[in-house]
Parts: sequence; C-alpha cells; structure tokens
Amino acid sequence: MSSHPHTFSRYCMHCGERLSSATPENDTKRRLVCIGCGFVHYINPRPVAGTLPVRADGQILLTRRDIEPRRGMWVFPGGFMDVGETAEEAAIRETREEAHLEVANLSLLGVYTRIEPGVVVIVYAADALGEAEVGDETSEIGWFHPDAIPWHELAFDSTTAALEDLVARLQHRDR
Ligand SMILES: [Zn+2]
Repeated sequence: MSSHPHTFSRYCMHCGERLSSATPENDTKRRLVCIGCGFVHYINPRPVAGTLPVRADGQILLTRRDIEPRRGMWVFPGGFMDVGETAEEAAIRETREEAHLEVANLSLLGVYTRIEPGVVVIVYAADALGEAEVGDETSEIGWFHPDAIPWHELAFDSTTAALEDLVARLQHRDR
C-alpha cells in the first residue's frame, strides 16, 4: 500500500473486510476494493479554500504556521472545507479563524493542485477589512509589500504559485 495519506483505512467501511488493490471492471486504475463485498473505496483529493487578503495600501497578509507540516513558514489563511459551506464561505471562515480578519470582495485567484498530499487549493484574492491578529494555528501575522514577500520562507508550492499570480494581478492593476 502506498504512503498516500488517504489510504490509512485498510478495512471496508461497509462490511469490515480487508481492502485490496485491484482494477475494478470498466475502470482503468487500481483502486482499493473490498475482498468481502466488492465495494470500491475511491480516494479523491480534498478541497482547501483560502484567501490572500490585500490592504488598501497594497500590502498582502500572510500568517506564520504554528502547526506541522512546514511549521514556521509563511502561508495564506486557508484550510479544509466543511460539508455545508461554499468555497467562499470556507475561505472567509479560515481567514477569520487564523488571522481574526474579515475580508470582502473575494475574487478567484486560482486553483492549485498539490499532488502528493491529494489537496486542491482554491485561493481568492480579497480586500482586507480592519486589522489582523494571531489566530488558530498561527504564530505571527505579517503584512508584506509585493516587493518584500519572503519567497524563500513560503510553506508550499501552492503558496508560491498563488502569490506569484496575485503579484502579477496587482502589478497589472497598477499599470
Ligand atoms: Zn466490504
């Protein structure tokens, strides 16, 4: 079995029998298939939603992670979506939880796939309202001018990609 984080379950959620790797009929990939009841346990990526809040003076909010993985590195507020909320609602909630910041005028910046952990990151640019404070899973709040982004201390490839897209968008707007 691979070390993919989603493969932790080795038993069928329906009948409790062991799962085995097999290619189901009419499928093209190996899946986890129950040897008892035949149920196919599909493993799908999980959506994460977040915001890149921008202040009126053009500075961008980042938070320093206080959790593993990548503790101590900078990231934008974001996290796993809950069932029952939209991606926008999840992004706003995570920003409130991690940076105590309200945001408005969300605009889709991009969708970034992190293959290895099986995560799809949906990122919105947003207007920051008021001041931010250190919140959950965060050790520090930082406001960064586009020229002063800590590119070598960013948590994930998706953090870098989203910030590159945001900076390009801000520069285009200022022209
Ligand atoms: Zn089963």
